[in-house]
Amino acid sequence: MAVPFFRPSVTQAEIDEVVACMKSGWLTTGPRTKEFESRFAARFGAKHAIALNSCTAALHLALDAVGLKRGENVIVPAMTFAATAEVVRYFDATPVMVDCEPRSLCIDPDQLRKIARNTKSLRAIIPMHYGGQMADVDAVASIAREAGVPVIEDAAHTLPASFDGKVVGTTADITCFSFYANKCITTGGEGGMALTNSDAFADRMRVMSLHGMSKDAWRRFTDKGSWYYELVAPGFKYNLTDIAAGMGLRQLDRLDELHAERKRLAARYTSELSQLPGVETPETLRGRDHSWHLYAIRLRLDRWTIDRARFIDELKARGITCSVHWMPLHLHPYYRETYGTGPGLFPVAEDVWPRLVSLPLFPGMTEAEQGEVIGAIAELQKLHGR
Ligand SMILES: *Cc1c(COP(=O)(O)O)cnc(C)c1O
Repeated sequence: MAVPFFRPSVTQAEIDEVVACMKSGWLTTGPRTKEFESRFAARFGAKHAIALNSCTAALHLALDAVGLKRGENVIVPAMTFAATAEVVRYFDATPVMVDCEPRSLCIDPDQLRKIARNTKSLRAIIPMHYGGQMADVDAVASIAREAGVPVIEDAAHTLPASFDGKVVGTTADITCFSFYANKCITTGGEGGMALTNSDAFADRMRVMSLHGMSKDAWRRFTDKGSWYYELVAPGFKYNLTDIAAGMGLRQLDRLDELHAERKRLAARYTSELSQLPGVETPETLRGRDHSWHLYAIRLRLDRWTIDRARFIDELKARGITCSVHWMPLHLHPYYRETYGTGPGLFPVAEDVWPRLVSLPLFPGMTEAEQGEVIGAIAELQKLHGR
């Protein structure tokens, strides 16, 4: 039986909503997007939600809203996806990397404090919640306060999650979510959302998401507004379509059900895989409710005669597709060439990344499929363990 890394969970409700949108006469940003925004904001108790076509767009607009300028610095984790740092480069500003904390793989608060104190022209801090477990947002908030800069959360993995009872979406100045195909909910492959309580940040993000127009297309073309608009800045084209928002609405209805399923799958992986000497299962830290976007094990390489690449190939040969999140940013050619980064800078990230394997985990994964993954890893441990 082949087990994919991910399979989207799409019910008739999403299909019906998308079809209804297509028949409605309004395809791009419109009533469904407005409803998706208001439902999303209400769910997380935020004042403003801005629906966008990706989380990358949300991060970009967030940095614009906080006024990032060329030559300034933004703190990002070294252990993150490309998007968290590339958006800083859009401004010709510098992503200042910080190592991760070894248990959660989120930004290390002690390193962050030191680096924030030593970074001049700091404009923002962007923590990222690895795999769906929140970073220590209390520590990040106090460090940001001391530095006098806003926090922008890369919450691409974190729908929903909480830290000491504080839910994601309420712990930063701006929180950015992804609805990419394999994230916790999807808007049909691509999509994103920015949440904020700041009127000023929300206004700026809205304007910049649609060409820098002082009014959005929806309001322009209905009786709520007029034909008149003004360009107040050279903006971007980052709005979400109503087709996408329609799917998002029906996925949002199912959020708690999808989350419960991810949790159940994660619990089974942990109870069965923690028996194997060559596997470290991910740890949930006290006070954190995990979204389980990713289930990333770490191989204890001293207990194997094969390396991580061979481990993944052996699973692939058994029909099981895994992934790796991630090679740390400072080891990639672009950052090496641009900033002279390289091995030795971030020991925690460097120790962990050659051992990381993200296993298939998605709502709708069957008991048999999960059994297949667990059985194959146990078999590999017998064949190649020591
Ligand atoms: C997926 C992801 C993003 C980007 O999301 P898009 O919606 O694809 O732009 C950003 N950060 C992290 C950590 C991600 O995993």
